[in-house]
Amino acid sequence: RAKAKSRGSITFYEPEMDQQIRDRRVLHQELSVAIKHGELSLYFQPQASSGHTVDSSEIIGFEALARWHNPVRGFVPPSDFIPLAEESGMIVEMGEWILREACREAASWPKPLQVAVNLSPAQFVHGDLVALVHSILLETGLAPGRLELEITEGVLIEDFDRGVALLRRLKALGVRVSMDDFGSGYSSLSYLQAFPFDKIKIDRAFVMNLGRNPQSAAIIRAVIGLGHGMNMSIVAEGVETQEQLGFLAEQGCDSVQGYLLGKPLPIDKYDGVVGRAHDDVVETVRKTG
Ligand code: C2E
Ligand code: MG
Ligand code: MG
Ligand code: MG
Repeated sequence: RAKAKSRGSITFYEPEMDQQIRDRRVLHQELSVAIKHGELSLYFQPQASSGHTVDSSEIIGFEALARWHNPVRGFVPPSDFIPLAEESGMIVEMGEWILREACREAASWPKPLQVAVNLSPAQFVHGDLVALVHSILLETGLAPGRLELEITEGVLIEDFDRGVALLRRLKALGVRVSMDDFGSGYSSLSYLQAFPFDKIKIDRAFVMNLGRNPQSAAIIRAVIGLGHGMNMSIVAEGVETQEQLGFLAEQGCDSVQGYLLGKPLPIDKYDGVVGRAHDDVVETVRKTG
């Protein structure tokens, strides 16, 4: 298709570009059969109340994180395949699978812990998200109060009024909504004011820079104050060190998530936490994982 066009010394034809397009197309095709072939799975990462130490931080739920294991490519990170799935529209079907799978899993836990599921922008635009959430809750028997939907900032802004209405309808089902990666994008204070979020997830970039960059501490402190002032709870992402945990607990951050508390893993690694047998496995994971 693409023809080589040379004008003087400038070459417009780049074979590598063609290759990239072909690679992308192949990846699209592989992704489109990933669900059917059972290559998609969910990992679960603990979310804990923020105690001053790991031992005093109690696990209150999990975030479900999608994983794609392709027989040839191996593990493809979500930062690669989620955008791809969004681009091709496949995310709608994939997002439905993820939501159903996460709810089904959580409903099977002996302990009534929370489960948080990430939603993609396309899921707000295509199909009836509220009806889908409602039917999945009925189908799996998960109590609505145990489900939290994570939405990245910016998703709702495109159609402001529709976004507000959608959040209200979701909340009317009894589920909670949280704003993911807060501070990483285009969030504004008016955004926080307009949308009835229950929770703010502070982007891990701010947590990562704690101790290196005094502004990060100031921002985290301010977001906690702001959120609490608006009746929202605050969770910090990417907590990797005891120092970070201590600071967050001291500042009154409600909950924490990060490698320090536990990595995203297949749920059977957290059997003890969800109330199934094998407590010893979890202890090992939390200390070495
Ligand atoms: P996210 O929703 O903000 O998820 C948190 C990400 O931070 C996860 O990356 C998690 O593994 C990583 N993380 C957690 N704790 C730590 C830590 O202490 N240190 C560091 N360095 N990283 C930590 P993951 O699983 O690679 O997912 C990346 C992003 O892909 C997610 O960011 C989310 O935006 C998207 N994603 C993942 N699963 C899904 C899904 O099921 N649906 C949708 N729509 N998006 C998903
Ligand atoms: Mg998330
Ligand atoms: Mg996040
Ligand atoms: Mg993120």
